[in-house]
Amino acid sequence: MSKDTCIFCKIAGGEIPATKVHEDDEVVAFRDLHPQAPVHVLVIPKTHVASLSGADAPLLGRLLQAAHAIAESEGIAASGYRVVTNTGAHGGQTVFHLHLHLLGGRPMAWPPG
Ligand code: AMP
Repeated sequence: MSKDTCIFCKIAGGEIPATKVHEDDEVVAFRDLHPQAPVHVLVIPKTHVASLSGADAPLLGRLLQAAHAIAESEGIAASGYRVVTNTGAHGGQTVFHLHLHLLGGRPMAWPPG
């Protein structure tokens, strides 16, 4: 998926609507269209990075810090939450713009499917 056709680039740029819960100079976060938990937020870099393999450490740090800050603002930090990054075919990645799933508001099962 190229940058020009990337749905998450369009969300970051405001061309496609989404319910944003956080935005700063590097990171955007919005509610997942098909939530798998009472809180299900996607945390993405504004720049196009296809997956975990293309991300540098500072960017990953920013994404993880944003995920925790959003967990705080969504009221799930104390009860606990899960952060998942599906990567590649076996990882279940369907949108090839790096994103963290922030899931919470219910107990999570382990192992995941
Ligand atoms: P993954 O399968 O890990 O690549 O996750 C992609 C996620 O993006 C899925 O949970 C989808 O429900 C979600 N998604 C796809 N399109 C949109 C959209 N337009 N707005 C919000 N979430 C979306």
